Amino acid sequence: MEETLAANLEATLDAWDVPGRVEQHWGRLFVRTREPEMAARAAATVFGIVSASPARTVEPTLDAISEALAETARATYDGGSFAVDASRAGDHDFTSQDVGRVGGDAIWTAVADEFEPEVDLDDPDHRFEVEVRDGEAYVFTERFDGPGGLPVGTQEPLVALVSGGIDSPVAAWLAMKRGAPVIPVYLDLGPYGGADHRARAIETVSRLAAHAPGQDWSLRIAPIGEPLEALDDRVGDTRMLSVRRLMLMVAGEIAAETGARGIVTGESIGQKSSQTVTNLQVTDRVTDWPVHRPLLALDKQEIIAKARKIGTYETATVDAGCNRIAPDQPETQAPIERVEGAEPDELPAWARQAAAAVDIQAIEPSVDLHKP
Ligand code: ATP
Ligand code: MG
Repeated sequence: MEETLAANLEATLDAWDVPGRVEQHWGRLFVRTREPEMAARAAATVFGIVSASPARTVEPTLDAISEALAETARATYDGGSFAVDASRAGDHDFTSQDVGRVGGDAIWTAVADEFEPEVDLDDPDHRFEVEVRDGEAYVFTERFDGPGGLPVGTQEPLVALVSGGIDSPVAAWLAMKRGAPVIPVYLDLGPYGGADHRARAIETVSRLAAHAPGQDWSLRIAPIGEPLEALDDRVGDTRMLSVRRLMLMVAGEIAAETGARGIVTGESIGQKSSQTVTNLQVTDRVTDWPVHRPLLALDKQEIIAKARKIGTYETATVDAGCNRIAPDQPETQAPIERVEGAEPDELPAWARQAAAAVDIQAIEPSVDLHKP
């Protein structure tokens, strides 16, 4: 896990053009860099990282630590209370309490001419952190929260059905958060979609890719316009379910071909008629592949908040084409027999054809999204 995390961090620094070397010590990752702030911001986008801090590295002595604290205070302190949080591991002739006391004095002395500093260990306005390890000490004041989760690549890949709407990128992001690389698949709806719909999916995947720029970001675009026209002509109120079943079949074909272990979608219970628990059962019956639905229990408002946070919300503004194929009275409680009875026998053949006709498009991760 740590090796994968280190490799992913390196790939992210590369993508950000931040020079730096990743080292592993004491169960932590360190980036030696001339650009600590940018390196920390980059690190805070990497799955598996809980937090990242730009830090100064100094000798593990009380003098050197105090000097670094005084300098940091002169640069960042602007009044109010402060605290020194120190931790120490290894062989030193001082304790972490000594660091707190001596370091606190140094900060106080550095800023007392200009301000009236006071110490508040419980809820300070400024927190100065010091970590002392065997050969080095680290001084820092900022923490950028990372996404947590597991490093991407510690699970096998999943095919992610990405429409470019609000939901599907969030679902793919959540699968990545738990370590699974995603193979994004966009189904080109032909006359039911359109160029803007496709461009929206491409832009969405580029934003998704910014969260794991070290992965292979080829978007697979599978054409399903013709089968959709046939379903539109030949199937009545269960039409949407056959559309959904076709989508899962195409995803399954691509999963088999790419070595993926399952499928991720942005479905959520009850979000629309095709997503009632009954209809989800009917859709799943078409495939042996596990269909993962990370948004299953989330409300739309929660999904939107997440999409805003990960930067995929803005692209999701174009109307989704699916609505143009929906019947006036879509079935919400379709019995499987009725869906299968109304469904053209050619469905599996159409799915195979769509998967075989996939257009593979290389996607550039839009890492600028995360830069201040
Ligand atoms: P989203 O769910 O991403 O907001 P949407 O609302 O247009 O898009 P739904 O009709 O809710 O899509 O479809 C449910 C799920 O099916 C999507 O979350 C996505 O995983 C998948 N899906 C739908 N349309 C497409 C498409 N054109 N290409 C790839 N996947 C799709
Ligand atoms: Mg949706």
